[in-house]
Amino acid sequence: MARCSVCGRPAVYVDRAGGVAFCEKHFLEYFDRKVRRTIRRFRLFRPRERIVVAVSGGKDSLALLHYLVRLSRRVPGWEVKALLVDEGIKGYREYTIKRFERVAGELGVEYRIVRFRDELGYTLDEIVRLGAERGLPYKPCTYCGVFRRYLMNKAAREMGATVVATGHNLDDIVQTYLMNVLGNDWEKVARLGPVSGPASHPRFVRKVKPFYEVLEKETTLYAVLHGLYDGFEECPYAPLGERWEIRRLINRLEEQRPGTKYSLLRSLLNALEILRRAGVAGDGEVRSCAICGEPSAHPVCRACLLRIELGILELSEEQLEKLPREAREMVLHALRLREKRRRRASGGAASPADRGRGDSGGAG
Ligand SMILES: [Zn+2]
Ligand SMILES: [Zn+2]
Repeated sequence: MARCSVCGRPAVYVDRAGGVAFCEKHFLEYFDRKVRRTIRRFRLFRPRERIVVAVSGGKDSLALLHYLVRLSRRVPGWEVKALLVDEGIKGYREYTIKRFERVAGELGVEYRIVRFRDELGYTLDEIVRLGAERGLPYKPCTYCGVFRRYLMNKAAREMGATVVATGHNLDDIVQTYLMNVLGNDWEKVARLGPVSGPASHPRFVRKVKPFYEVLEKETTLYAVLHGLYDGFEECPYAPLGERWEIRRLINRLEEQRPGTKYSLLRSLLNALEILRRAGVAGDGEVRSCAICGEPSAHPVCRACLLRIELGILELSEEQLEKLPREAREMVLHALRLREKRRRRASGGAASPADRGRGDSGGAG
């Protein structure tokens, strides 16, 4: 049996890449050191912050909430709240909401739950069905990712957040990195830093990833040791996503060559620096969506366009006329696509492959 490298007691954690093992007490110290180093190194937080933790209900985001609430007790200028976006996946979400409310209650943290059903008029399950009926080429993770990010930013802002913290761990980050490298999408790679988003748009809340350098097995153990994880975890749509395969691949590589995940992260950090110097800015120019006013890289935001393609957002002739030219063209293009797909779908042809590569969130 492995023994703790510090005190010699039986180990609960073995790090093959680093050649160390820890007992529970020394694992938690190691974990805390690691996260605080990330926070310092990438300047994730300022002296005064209203932090909103975006909770998916999974172990990683619950671990992050638990960690930041405890840390905030030592930092006088920090206030921590929690936000859960309920996309409405039947048989999965009901359970994770209960767990979230229990943990938030135990931590004494203020929280808010925002629902797809209330904000968009439909649950994710209904949106996935609608999309299939209309022959849209997107996977569930695409809808979920786009609408989740959209609602998260909006709700966090309404809660007075100066920063949103998400539970993405090192595994999530390097998976997304590899997916975007395979898709040759360097603008998306440029957005994979530990701090994302231009602070310039008044409606945009900065996003940070405190578990950027922490392995998934470490966030899992942290969650287990604090009673935040009981085995129930996986989103039922996950096996449909491209991430699923990439995750298996990276885990197999790590198994054969311990340290592969850290190598991938170093590669990403180098790539970010090279992209920055080459002027490939992931955040680019940010404007306001001509339809909803939320921050967007394009004249119309992804969430509004998706709603138009789904047919759950209809614009009147008059509204269409009032849009700036570029925005109107984007909407008209989406409407033409919708019409084409409608005809194809009624003809019974198969829909083309997903073009929404790398869009899934992956935060646990
Ligand atoms: Zn020890
Ligand atoms: Zn919009």
